[in-house]
Amino acid sequence: MTSLAPADGAARWVEADRLHLLHPQHHPADLADPILWVAGEGVDLIDAAGNRYLDALSGMWNLHLGHGRPELVAAAAAQMSRLAFATAYAGSTHPAVIALAERLAALAPPGIEAFFFTNGGSDATDSAIRTARWVWRARGRPDKTIILSRDLSYHGSTVGAASATGVAEFSDPFGPRLPGFARIAPPYPYRGLDGAGAAAALERAILDLGPDKVAAFIAEPVLGGGGGVIVPDADYFPRVREICDRYDVLLILDEVITGFGRTGRWFAAEHWGLRPDILQFAKGITGGHLPLGGIGVSAAIKRTLESVPAEARWWHGLTSSGHPVACRVALETIRIIADEGLVERSARLGARLLDRLRAGLADHPQVGEVRGLGLLAGIELVADRADRRRFPAAFDLAGRLRAALRAQGVVTRVVNDTLCLAPPLTIPEDRLDALADAVAAAIGTVFPSQS
Ligand code: PMP
Repeated sequence: MTSLAPADGAARWVEADRLHLLHPQHHPADLADPILWVAGEGVDLIDAAGNRYLDALSGMWNLHLGHGRPELVAAAAAQMSRLAFATAYAGSTHPAVIALAERLAALAPPGIEAFFFTNGGSDATDSAIRTARWVWRARGRPDKTIILSRDLSYHGSTVGAASATGVAEFSDPFGPRLPGFARIAPPYPYRGLDGAGAAAALERAILDLGPDKVAAFIAEPVLGGGGGVIVPDADYFPRVREICDRYDVLLILDEVITGFGRTGRWFAAEHWGLRPDILQFAKGITGGHLPLGGIGVSAAIKRTLESVPAEARWWHGLTSSGHPVACRVALETIRIIADEGLVERSARLGARLLDRLRAGLADHPQVGEVRGLGLLAGIELVADRADRRRFPAAFDLAGRLRAALRAQGVVTRVVNDTLCLAPPLTIPEDRLDALADAVAAAIGTVFPSQS
């Protein structure tokens, strides 16, 4: 095997990286002072120099059980030895994918009955979009093709998912968006956009575009990678459901970040008794140990899929759909989340985290809002608390905060001037308290005269 030991020399790895690797959202400036991760242990990441950092975003919001869970390693090895791959196309099936679909049917919001698996979140978005359009065509309403989404959303980097994504940089530099997409404002309580107003914007958009043209509305329960942990008012999604029902618009809930206990429920839909037509998931389903995502569809959509002649079928598929190793690891991840009561733990520790953050940051003039749901939290910083003014881009708030957090032994992301926290659901309580204290200390370092 190729040696990947740090003894090979961190400098050599970094040089080879500069020469040959394109990173997600690549820019060479990011490599000015890169961190070379060589190991993960529990909730910690370890760099080539042996420094330990608390992985406060669980990797990319996905390592729900922390790093290197032996049960997941064993599940992967056992499945890889027994049946490394079998397709789910053309009448083929296998126990791992069947068992996962059955388990998900029991955990998903009521009404979600059947599942299709993808490699991750972006192709889950594309699968949801294609399915929504296909369904209306199969039901004899082929003009219903428009996908409504929201500003500040992130749904992925494939062409379809990026066309739905509500952050301009992620789509516009890559040429025109696909036709058949439109966007509206999300609720953003701290910035004066409430749930009733945002729901009214959805209804207006459907009426303006024509209910006979709109196929679906896609939304993250809590805006994440594009918005920076924005939690909606409690009445928003119930209103959205009513509006979607009124105009025959399918509701796609993108639970790629919020699924599998992240917000203190198995799925965030449960907070509002919400019944989506299509549910999207990825990330936490394997505890981030392998790539896997997918969609779940309602009984009504499943009936439509089953109602067409074979030649008019849902011609949608991916080579690795239902990959046996990923499915087996997902089953084991779900077993651990259930057996260890991690969903309830996420709710309990999330409240503890918010309390401690609020206590430590309440009087800080640059802290606009501390918000969250379960172990998903955001601290929105503002240049001026009175008028909620944002920082100029040249201030590089994200870069400064990241550096200050790193000095505190914490790694995480800053999105839209919001410091995001999503630690593993298994984080020990003393480490969680230390995280809240480290965040307050880091903010105090960036704004020294103020704290
Ligand atoms: N949807 C949401 C809500 C996401 O947060 C992400 C990734 N951050 C995606 C979709 C895309 O997932 P992936 O990066 O696995 O393609």
